[in-house]
Amino acid sequence: MNDFLRIAVQKSGRLSEKSLKIIRDCGIRFGSDARLLKEQAENFPLEFLYLRDDDIPRYVHDKVADIGIVGRNEYDEQGHELELLRDLGFSKCRLSIAVPNAMDYQGLHSLSGKRIATSYPGILKQKLEQAGVQAEIYELSGSVEIAPSIGVADAICDLVSTGATLVSNGLKEVETVYRSTAVMIGRSDLPPHKQEILKRLLLRIDAVMRADDYKYIMFNLPKEHLDKVSAIVGGMKSPTVTPLVDESWCAVQTVVKEERFWDVLEQLKALGAQGILVTAIEKMAN
Ligand code: ATP
Ligand code: MG
Repeated sequence: MNDFLRIAVQKSGRLSEKSLKIIRDCGIRFGSDARLLKEQAENFPLEFLYLRDDDIPRYVHDKVADIGIVGRNEYDEQGHELELLRDLGFSKCRLSIAVPNAMDYQGLHSLSGKRIATSYPGILKQKLEQAGVQAEIYELSGSVEIAPSIGVADAICDLVSTGATLVSNGLKEVETVYRSTAVMIGRSDLPPHKQEILKRLLLRIDAVMRADDYKYIMFNLPKEHLDKVSAIVGGMKSPTVTPLVDESWCAVQTVVKEERFWDVLEQLKALGAQGILVTAIEKMAN
């Protein structure tokens, strides 16, 4: 019996670095020697398998690995029945349809009877069916963006993050088919001792992800405005308030959602807050 949890991560590619970082941020130590295909963590019952991202959903499904980190696009395309354990939020990209600049594109129906090259035939097929468009799907495993210029296809459906690759190949992005981020996937039939390890790992991952979403702020405030602070910072439990030597003032400490941070800062300034200090949070557990 293996008493460790086996995680499949991409060996080398767009997901690799961030997949390993999130695990390292969980306080788990390992070498991540790029020549290895398999290694064990030093201080947590976790074993890594370094694989091509395409193989990760199938390996988890076939019990070679227990969990894996992969783009949601790959997971959905392959359609294995697995549990989507967490959306990890990184490696954001979209699967888009792009056509040659010169094409007069009026909507998906412009692709009727055309040939579209893609590495994601399943996701594309679904989109075309929903739109009632009949087009030929031409499956390629890579270098999809050059298909139109070499006469292999009329259009492509490929992953895009900035769009620069499309532009440099004389293509224009005309339709977003799908949006993706990295996800952690797992089997639903893990034995109890592995479920236990997974629970411990997820607790850490949640703490790391939550910490990324928040900032810790400290500031001094005229006491008369204290009652307005909770409404401004929102969310979490009441702020911590400490008296100051000047009795008409107090010091306040609290956490603020990263996305609301600038808004909160402006509102606190408007209340007369001074000496505002802001720090990143390393971990945050509930
Ligand atoms: P492998 O050698 O492991 O098969 P790959 O070349 O198939 O690697 P990568 O290009 O490293 O795969 O992309 C892995 C994942 O990263 C994609 O499936 C997608 O979820 C995500 N990704 C993020 N941004 C982009 C982008 N601009 N282009 C392609 N994929 C992206
Ligand atoms: Mg791949």
